[in-house]
Amino acid sequence: MSWGIIHFLFPYPEKVKYGKVILSKNNEVIGATLNTSDKWCLYSSLEDVDPFFIKAITQKEDKWFYYHFGINPISVFRAVFYNLTSQKRVSGASTITMQVVRLLEPKERTYLNKLKEVFRAYQLECTYSKDEILEMYINSIPFGGNIEGIKAATVLYLQKNPNALSTAESSMLSIIPNRPTSLSIQHQKEFLKSERDKWIVRYYEEGIISDDEKYSALLEPLHIKRENMPRTTPHLNRRLINKYPLDKVIKTNIDVGKQIKAEKIISKYSRRQSGLGIYNAAALIIDNKTNNVIAYIGSQDYDDDQNAGQIDGNLALRSPGSTLKPLIYALGFDRGILTPKLQILDVRHDFGSYSPVNYDEQFRGEVTVTEALKQSLNIPAVSILEKIGTPALINSLKNAGFNTIKRQEKRLGLSLALGGCGVNLTELTGLYAAFAQEGSYTPLHFTSAEIDSSKHQIVTPESAYMIYEILSQLKRPDFPNNYQNSFHAPPIAWKTGTSYGRRDAWSVGYNKEYTVGVWCGNFNNIGVPGLTGAETATPLLFSLFQSLYTGNNISKWEYDIPEHIFEREVCATSGKVPNIFCDHLVSDTFIPGVSHTEKCTHLKNYFVSTDSSFYYCHDCLPKEGGYIKKQYANPSVELMTFYLENNLPFNAPPQHNPKCRTSITGVAPQIISPVEGREYIITDKSTELEMKAHLSPDVAYTYWYVNDHFIKKIERGQSLFHQFKFGQNKISCTDDKGRNAEIYIFVK
Ligand SMILES: [Zn+2]
Ligand SMILES: [Zn+2]
Repeated sequence: MSWGIIHFLFPYPEKVKYGKVILSKNNEVIGATLNTSDKWCLYSSLEDVDPFFIKAITQKEDKWFYYHFGINPISVFRAVFYNLTSQKRVSGASTITMQVVRLLEPKERTYLNKLKEVFRAYQLECTYSKDEILEMYINSIPFGGNIEGIKAATVLYLQKNPNALSTAESSMLSIIPNRPTSLSIQHQKEFLKSERDKWIVRYYEEGIISDDEKYSALLEPLHIKRENMPRTTPHLNRRLINKYPLDKVIKTNIDVGKQIKAEKIISKYSRRQSGLGIYNAAALIIDNKTNNVIAYIGSQDYDDDQNAGQIDGNLALRSPGSTLKPLIYALGFDRGILTPKLQILDVRHDFGSYSPVNYDEQFRGEVTVTEALKQSLNIPAVSILEKIGTPALINSLKNAGFNTIKRQEKRLGLSLALGGCGVNLTELTGLYAAFAQEGSYTPLHFTSAEIDSSKHQIVTPESAYMIYEILSQLKRPDFPNNYQNSFHAPPIAWKTGTSYGRRDAWSVGYNKEYTVGVWCGNFNNIGVPGLTGAETATPLLFSLFQSLYTGNNISKWEYDIPEHIFEREVCATSGKVPNIFCDHLVSDTFIPGVSHTEKCTHLKNYFVSTDSSFYYCHDCLPKEGGYIKKQYANPSVELMTFYLENNLPFNAPPQHNPKCRTSITGVAPQIISPVEGREYIITDKSTELEMKAHLSPDVAYTYWYVNDHFIKKIERGQSLFHQFKFGQNKISCTDDKGRNAEIYIFVK
């Protein structure tokens, strides 16, 4: 009872003050921090220390450690006796427990303090087990300079962990604690060796090593050299220390061999790129089987102060360029609106206030989904995003661990498809790791304690398969020019991205085993004319991928085709289910029950005059015959406009029978600007908006009305601008064939 009160009134004040130690997946020290007293004091459990060292140090310091209760009465009496009789102070009365007390609470050596220490030692023995006390001891014994504890000592002096000590090394380390200040490790190696040998012999005599062990230990040369604390992954270390402020040991999943290889490649590559004005680079490597982060390079060189090397490129929020496009296409596959060979439009299109162009400022009219993604075309990507909706994309990104997207959500629009948001390299690489795992995202594991293996199906396995098929094709415009040739390229799926203003070059790739993300650019955000995802980031991605395999030996992934993917024949012209007139068929993959089943309408039947100079409609078709049936191209209005504007020949039908009074043929105008239902915010009343429509090829003139007031008659190809009043506006367009279109917009 009274002991309990004393214990409560004078609780044990101190514990060992540890710095933090960061370990690789194989327990190599890859970083550490000083403790609050600026000492290298790193935690090691008793099991992680060579058993002979523990035996040696207890033998030497406190033979009866396991039998006493904190103080050894015989030694105390002996010490008191000697001190009283011979004036000379004799130590040796100190048990390991007493030493721990003194190491934790250093005090002047007076008899009163000695008494306090006895109390504390007893208290320590009551609070902790023998092994816990011994663990505190080996973790806090001074080893000279600012080194405390066995872990820091072995790492700094011997560049190894305390569980890998030889008998000679353990013996040597067992003699330093008693004279950490008087013994200079650097300058007294001879003396150190003779002391070591003396103790090796003594340990043999005391029966804790065998004759053989003694013999080989004595032969072992003395290797001791103080090196700097390892700092293999400085950016990652900082990230994890911030994330786990209370942990004294952080065990990462870093593969030191792969990390060092990657680091060297990046530093060398970055030096070359600096000639072009590109100074920073970062990369992340993930093991797809475990979702472990096995290499983490935050910048080309942590110590490159001139180029802000301390910034962590894995955490920096940057524009992703085109790197989100595969996700948009994958969502399109899953909605059924896309299949790889479906033809989609690549024509000038105004998405409200947003009117993107392609990287080469060209439009291709129509392209397959595969080509559109391979060539990273902008209009198709934005159109698909418009169809699936930005909330769907944002939701998928959130499920794929894009944590920062939540904060940006309110201001994100269709420009997301082209990189109009902020992401970091970690998030982006995590997304591609999901593509490598059948569309299922699992949080990345930076440490061995992070074991969340929950799966979030971002896209279906079928969709992920189709994306892999597209992104693993080598013939594509973003294949790096300066890369030797496609023969040397690793067989991986990858996608590049270049942000607006050429500030960020991305390249993220994956195969079955690994996902690698690469970013190049400048942390100070300066754009560089020569910077592109293809030329700047991809060669680095390829090198990093190859460094993961010995002899650059990467075999192509034998992708297991998912259950619900099937092949079907489609019309080569449209990529849709063939109609009777579709004579050129190709094979395409699709997801039954999901993918579109629209029949091809690439041709249309017309009844035309015998000279094919005009066609008959249902009303004017001569009953007596004298006409022939012919097929003509049947493109959408947008595509037809594209053909006409670019003078591209297409199999257009002839004009309608000029003698026919029925005029309801052809296609009505389609107003494309302003955009139907959109809210336009104008700061100045005099702001004019363009009025524009897609027209049928037989149209020469259009008549425009705003709120039922006639505005102007314009010729095909002419443009028209108008000042709108605030509030709702009705816009109508009538073509010279009497076909009409109307839309509403709101002006603020
Ligand atoms: Zn067809
Ligand atoms: Zn007719």
